[in-house]
Amino acid sequence: MPSRAANDVDVAEQYWHYLEISKVATILETNLENGLEPTEANRRQQKFGPNELTVKAGKPAWLKFILQFNQPLLIILLSAGLIKAAIGEWLNASVIWGVTTTNATISFIQEAGAEKKIEALAQAVTTEATVIRGGKKLRIPSKELVVGDLVILTSGDKVPADLRLVKVRDLQIDESGLTGESVAVEKELGLSGDLVLPQETPLAERDNMAYAGSFVTFGQGSGIVIAIANKTETGKISQLLDRHIDLTTPLTRKFNQFSQNWLLFVLGMATLTFAVRLGRPVPAGVSAFKEAVEPAVALIVGAIPEGLPAVITVTLAVGVSRMANRHAIVRKLPAVETLGGATVICSDKTGTLTENQMTVQEIYAGGESYFVTGTGYSPEGEIQLNQLPITVSQAPTLQECLQAGLLCNDSHLEFKDDDWIVVGDPTEGALIAVGKKAELSQQTLSKSMPRLDSIPFESQFQYMATLHRTPTGKILYVKGSVESILGRCGSSLDTQGNPVEVDRAQIHHQVDEMAKQGLRVLALAKKPVPQSQNSVDHSDLESGLIFLGLQGMIDPPRAEAIAAVQACQTAGIQVKMITGDHIATAKAIARRMGFRKTKHHRELVAYTGAQLAEMSKQELGEAVEAGSVFARVAPEQKLRLVEALQQKGEIVAMTGDGVNDAPALKQADIGIAMGSGTEVSKEAADMILTDDNFASIESAVEEGRSVYKNLLKAISFILPVNGGESMTILLSTLLGRELPILSLQILWLNMLNSITMTVPLAFEPKSAGVMKQQPRPVNEPFLTGNRIKRIVAISLYNWTLIFGMFEWVRQADWGTLALARTMAIQALVMGRIFYLLSLSQLLPSLIAKFSGSKEEVSGAPALGVGIVLAVILQIIFANSPFVNRIFETAPMNLDQWLICFGVALPMIGVALWVNRFDPPN
Ligand code: ADP
Ligand code: MG
Repeated sequence: MPSRAANDVDVAEQYWHYLEISKVATILETNLENGLEPTEANRRQQKFGPNELTVKAGKPAWLKFILQFNQPLLIILLSAGLIKAAIGEWLNASVIWGVTTTNATISFIQEAGAEKKIEALAQAVTTEATVIRGGKKLRIPSKELVVGDLVILTSGDKVPADLRLVKVRDLQIDESGLTGESVAVEKELGLSGDLVLPQETPLAERDNMAYAGSFVTFGQGSGIVIAIANKTETGKISQLLDRHIDLTTPLTRKFNQFSQNWLLFVLGMATLTFAVRLGRPVPAGVSAFKEAVEPAVALIVGAIPEGLPAVITVTLAVGVSRMANRHAIVRKLPAVETLGGATVICSDKTGTLTENQMTVQEIYAGGESYFVTGTGYSPEGEIQLNQLPITVSQAPTLQECLQAGLLCNDSHLEFKDDDWIVVGDPTEGALIAVGKKAELSQQTLSKSMPRLDSIPFESQFQYMATLHRTPTGKILYVKGSVESILGRCGSSLDTQGNPVEVDRAQIHHQVDEMAKQGLRVLALAKKPVPQSQNSVDHSDLESGLIFLGLQGMIDPPRAEAIAAVQACQTAGIQVKMITGDHIATAKAIARRMGFRKTKHHRELVAYTGAQLAEMSKQELGEAVEAGSVFARVAPEQKLRLVEALQQKGEIVAMTGDGVNDAPALKQADIGIAMGSGTEVSKEAADMILTDDNFASIESAVEEGRSVYKNLLKAISFILPVNGGESMTILLSTLLGRELPILSLQILWLNMLNSITMTVPLAFEPKSAGVMKQQPRPVNEPFLTGNRIKRIVAISLYNWTLIFGMFEWVRQADWGTLALARTMAIQALVMGRIFYLLSLSQLLPSLIAKFSGSKEEVSGAPALGVGIVLAVILQIIFANSPFVNRIFETAPMNLDQWLICFGVALPMIGVALWVNRFDPPN
């Protein structure tokens, strides 16, 4: 039977906001309590397809290919070919065009590959939605949603489809993507619980609707899916989702800028050579104009680093996939580079630095301190008083404290693969485990005291509350940070459950004792409420709570994170802990993890959010530098911290997972979200950690530094060849000598030879010392003084090789013009091979390997293949008659090869010398 929903979706799609919710449910054949039946959901999914926006086809491949030529460099090359064609040198012209096209093809293929890789990674991060199907709450990928599904929204979620809201509680939604309105709008369904709006209500005012692509910034709600995929409002506006990947980064931008200036300079020099050559006498019958074109074209071709852009793209893509292998998914390409320059990492504590494996170890209730044995979430263990196990029924206040922890709880424990795991929040899991140790069961309790309403935990309030019907009347249970609970308590209970006055000093003392050991402390309280009350609101909790006790839980630091913190500090990167937890707990953990004291301080310095809030801008600036731990920080304050650090000139990486972390993540130079975090935070981030682990940030920084080094290596490798070539052309022309190297031969060198030898640099293994150095200075240009010295020095040696070899062979009685040129080029390539080895990490890694290091020498095969390929190409260059004809080269004998090898040897010395002042690793 065809579902009516199936037929009616299109017809009625405009009108959902002016239908009563019960009508909506009828039309869409769904149930407002239990949602769709799973079989029906499947059927609809088959029929209507996935809830995904169609991706824009993007530019067609041929257009992308043509656009490759839309670079000043290539245009100039093509024009050079045109000039050659104009003066009738057709062979010359076609080779220039051929090689240029080959180059464009290679960059095209490489760029497409890089784009694909990055896109695939970005897509691996899927959004999920919570739905109710067949009465069961499920997490499913958003693309599996169908019209009629009942979706639950919680703060931090991305609204997965267009919804007609069924229930809301303080629901606020940021619809800026759709309406341009930057303030979140409050969704309300009125007193009746259902709001019907006039048909003409504009989108931005439809309080009973939630639209796909917007974000829940606060509260909760639920709604029925009324449109999916391209039928959603967002789908209609954007129609097609543009998934264009931007391949530019700060370095590529700097490099493009440099290229443009360089190009102007080169054109100037080419004009000069042209003029100089034109002024020289020519043999009779030869056109002076034609003679003058060749050096000018050769100079242009020689001075331009044609192969470099492709190499840069490949290097970045390699970096992205290496980071992905180490659990860091890059969402925005520039992060690859920025990460390498990070000077401060601000990290969450819970779950990132610590295991997020909570176990209650200490309880303070009714004025007594109890200890709890056992590890993890397993129910094995006991509660002890003065080192003797006790039965909780003898200590009613302890029992109620445990009971509050079990009832005021949204999580549960499951036994899976021989182990107890938490489904939900680890903090809550710990409360359940300790309850089990006392023979209390969450299931039994929630049957005898059913929950009527709740306020879920939000970092901002630091507490959670639930309302229960119990045999003795209605009771509110509350749990949260001591600061948020204790002030609202009017009384407390003694061991036997008799009301007494709250001894705040004593409780604070207990909290400090627990926190100093690194325990995370939760306070629990209750409040009897009138029989008539059926819901709970923040205002119900303002006063009159009865303090039940404290539970202190251990959350051990992750072993890898300890090592990673050390590694970062050695690498000159400050690590700062930003947490919502208690200052003493945070400090204890930081100390245990070896957080280093900052400059001028003998102690680890910690601040609380409250202290930060009172500081002036200048004080804040000092505090962010001095402090290593920032506790009880509200998410909004993270933004201020990032800004203050940036003001001090730091490059800041900041983690975040909550809904309110998005602004800080956007502001940070590298915003890092957690795989388990909210959609809002992921959307704002530059990078996502799939394992939530701090160690992965450190790995990503390491890879980021290596990528940057490899980019610089590629630049350091390619530019001196251009330098050597252009010096040769310029000087030989000015000196009135024959050209030692022709434009076509230069193209061969700069494209085929450069690419085979440079692409392997992208796969370079990281050097052992990469995390022993200080971060690179902010805004360091890619051509530093020393790097320019390096490039000039190697260029000069390259020039010596070409010019010297050419002139020497030319003057020998066996030396023809073609042979002199061929040998000059071979000498240059030999020198290049030595130079490549001096830049590469390959030899040091091999040496380390032979002297016993276990480190894998990755990337070595690539370099080897590159060099072998380059040698084969050079043999073809000299010894293939066909290539001889095209490139005007001549065959070489063994002696001549050896001579070329010999004169290139001193490159080793030159390279080692430049490595001293400009270390490549
Ligand atoms: P962080 O994740 O940095 O440790 P949170 O913002 O999650 O900080 O927690 C801040 C404080 O709120 C905790 O120290 C704890 O006292 C309290 N808290 C944490 N989780 C819960 C929860 N599920 N229910 C009630 N209170 C909680
Ligand atoms: Mg937390």
